[in-house]
Amino acid sequence: VLISLAVLFIGIAVLLSYFLSRRTLVPIHEAYNRQRQFVADASHELRTPLSVIFSSVEALEMEEEITNNEFAQKMLHRLREEIKRMNKLMTDLLTLARADARNAALELAKEAFDFRPHAERTLQLLADVAAKKSIELQFQAPEAAQMIGDADKLTQLLYILLDNAIKYTPNGGLVTLSIHIEKAKQRRLIISVKDTGIGIPKEEIGRIFDRFYRVDKARSRQQGGHGLGLSIAKWIVNAHGGTIDVQSELGKGTEFIVTIPF
Ligand code: ADP
Repeated sequence: VLISLAVLFIGIAVLLSYFLSRRTLVPIHEAYNRQRQFVADASHELRTPLSVIFSSVEALEMEEEITNNEFAQKMLHRLREEIKRMNKLMTDLLTLARADARNAALELAKEAFDFRPHAERTLQLLADVAAKKSIELQFQAPEAAQMIGDADKLTQLLYILLDNAIKYTPNGGLVTLSIHIEKAKQRRLIISVKDTGIGIPKEEIGRIFDRFYRVDKARSRQQGGHGLGLSIAKWIVNAHGGTIDVQSELGKGTEFIVTIPF
């Protein structure tokens, strides 16, 4: 009797744990999917009213009564800046929600292309921001940096790294972009973005790729950041099967090194 009771007891325990594990595993996965879909839908839906608000601000800015009113102009300028920030946040959230949803490698539109003109265009886009802070932008690259990858996404990655380098470097600093094609057994594109900026504390380096993580929240916000740039950069690198490394010294500067095999 004791043996059959023990067998019955173990049987019930095994069955219970089986059903409990099924009950918890499935809903967690479903909850994750629902949450991801919610973020994607919410950011998509919020962009429409945001663009209506933006065009209303633009229309107001052209009104004669407003152009003559310094206070109203100041307020509208502030509104415009905040709308731009929100729009960027929505776009970044949507990018990450889409990245979560699909197999990253399948998301890429790979092609053979020369990375050099893309890098030059990105530097041009940021030239004004750098000039405002008297930051010198240096560029080292081969005549042609022929590679295979997703040109748009790799350009977005470069923009994020250069934008950060300029943001976190005080006036009068130096930002150097170097591009290199390694022609070993497997070809690799190597990008280095080096700055003479504020640096990142050693204990924080492991967290800067986390979503919404910012070493100094106040400084990042003031610079227009919301802590998603490096998460997107990391996703782009991973999708290409590459690596991203950081070397940084507090108060001296930071270097991001990206390696993309092709
Ligand atoms: P953010 O929008 O805040 O710049 P990111 O995800 O791009 O978000 O970066 C995360 C954090 O990493 C930043 O808030 C900043 O603290 C730190 N960081 C990124 N790049 C640099 C850099 N070049 N120099 C110093 N700190 C940096």
